[in-house]
Amino acid sequence: MDVTTLTASFAGVTELVSLMVSERDRQKLATLQSELTAKIISTQSELTKVLGTIIEQERKIHALEQRNRDLESAAAERGRYKLTKMGEMVEFYAYQLCESTDVIDGSGEVEHFLCQPCFDAGKKAVLVGNGAGYFSCPICRQGAQITRVNDDPYSIGGSSGF
Ligand SMILES: [Zn+2]
Repeated sequence: MDVTTLTASFAGVTELVSLMVSERDRQKLATLQSELTAKIISTQSELTKVLGTIIEQERKIHALEQRNRDLESAAAERGRYKLTKMGEMVEFYAYQLCESTDVIDGSGEVEHFLCQPCFDAGKKAVLVGNGAGYFSCPICRQGAQITRVNDDPYSIGGSSGF
């Protein structure tokens, strides 16, 4: 965007018009009219460029605002979960819904765990249990046997009675 060039073009138009007003010589007047026409055309061209740049910048601002909203939303969603070790048998980590957040926002979601690699990559995948202590991700298929059969799979950090 060249606002300086556009401003100079408008100044040139104004100058030519004021010269034409005071000019009495017909031949000089015709020359000034020709110059004025050329100047108006170049000014219109500059104005079109400036308007095009403004439109492009508004489009970029809109896209950045949308991106900012998406990032804020993702950060808020991420804040609802904490990284937790599941069970005691293996080093298997997952994101667990924070109880305090759950109470605050009143969503009343059931307790669940999200796949750690998928959530870190921006995908939300709830781990699926097979009912016998094995949990796996439906997207990346990562899984682990986290409890012995009949242990409570939602017991975290040594309270599972091993
Ligand atoms: Zn996964």
